[in-house]
Amino acid sequence: MRPTGSYYQLVHGTNWFIHSANCFTVPTSTLCQPVHGGRWFMVATIHDYKRFVVHTGKAFLERLASGPVVGDGSFVVTLERRGYVEAGAWTPEAVVQYPEAVKQLHRDYLRAGSDVMQTFTFYSSDDKLTFAGNHADQREIVNCENLNRAACDLAREVADEGGALVAGGLSPVPGYVESKGKDHVMGEFMKQMEVFKEKKIDFLLGEFFGYIEEAEWAIEAMKTMHLPIACSMRVGPAGDLSGVTPQECAIRMAQAGADVVGVNCNYDPFISLETLEMMKIALKEAGYDVYLMVQPVGWHTQEIRDDERGYTVLPEFPYAMEPRLLTRIDVARFAREAYNLGVRYIGGCCGFEPYHIRAIAEELAVERGVRPPGKDKHGGYESLKKSMLDNQTDRCTREYWENLTPATGRKNGKLLANIAPRENGQQT
Ligand SMILES: [Zn+2]
Repeated sequence: MRPTGSYYQLVHGTNWFIHSANCFTVPTSTLCQPVHGGRWFMVATIHDYKRFVVHTGKAFLERLASGPVVGDGSFVVTLERRGYVEAGAWTPEAVVQYPEAVKQLHRDYLRAGSDVMQTFTFYSSDDKLTFAGNHADQREIVNCENLNRAACDLAREVADEGGALVAGGLSPVPGYVESKGKDHVMGEFMKQMEVFKEKKIDFLLGEFFGYIEEAEWAIEAMKTMHLPIACSMRVGPAGDLSGVTPQECAIRMAQAGADVVGVNCNYDPFISLETLEMMKIALKEAGYDVYLMVQPVGWHTQEIRDDERGYTVLPEFPYAMEPRLLTRIDVARFAREAYNLGVRYIGGCCGFEPYHIRAIAEELAVERGVRPPGKDKHGGYESLKKSMLDNQTDRCTREYWENLTPATGRKNGKLLANIAPRENGQQT
């Protein structure tokens, strides 16, 4: 973690500054850069001054206290579509095999306004990497240590280009549902922790847990790092895969020591916000003062609202999800409703593309005090006036887009899917 009281140099000048707090003011320039290879600062205008917020691990919680933090979006699903991840396995060996592809996706999210670069370490525990024979012929290269190291380096490199934080990501391990026990599961998490420690990430993010008990073990492992902890589960209003309600999941995550709790994946934004509201009320009643986070999927999933298995049971998963895709108008509404509910960490999971993240960052630009770096190519609805075609210039208002019901354009389109009945058995 960067200590307070450091020297910084303005990018467009030669002045040096010493500061003793995480927020300070300087009279000139819009960006400054840490002298010794650290991070860039985000900027918010305050009268004639620029206010610089230093992004350290400590600053994560301070930033949540001062306004919304924008997460990033989909990695494993997006990189599968781009040809760098294998469907079914959903493992992140691309960080060593195709690092440029991973780095570019981080950059796309940074440009869209993400405050956080989450390491692409989803399913990168040794037991998941070898689960069902995945990568059995490549274990020299494709292993937990190598993948986590490479993922941290890629996330840090891009984060430093734009003042973002690096979150070390943990996800479920197959050993949990195979009943290998706490020692085994904790051991898998701790192997990832070793690398996160070496790579000096800013905070920890455990996610996609389907069972509250595994989330608690992950939080126990994360606590050994003495960094801020965020933890989210893939639960909806129906609760987790062991029948625990979202209210109890939230309380148990807070009780275990998470600073930020919430949901990710599995349900669309509006179902996820229903779940968050249930969690929020329960946390308040139980006296827990933690931040809330939400990172839903980028598709409409209303059929599975009450199905604890989540969106992967939809018959269209994973190769025909496009007709369900959220528009950026949907995402702007989601961002506003999440903020109004009091959620302070707002991002996306599977299916959330960079332009969806940009819609969050643009919608909350006033609250965040900054627009996304890609604003030079985003004039909002107004930019449609630049078209030579009337059918675009007529659509240059927010009202037009908010009142539009998008068509699918398909002769055989259907509104809702038929969901296969549940079968007994656990899911990883
Ligand atoms: Zn997801």
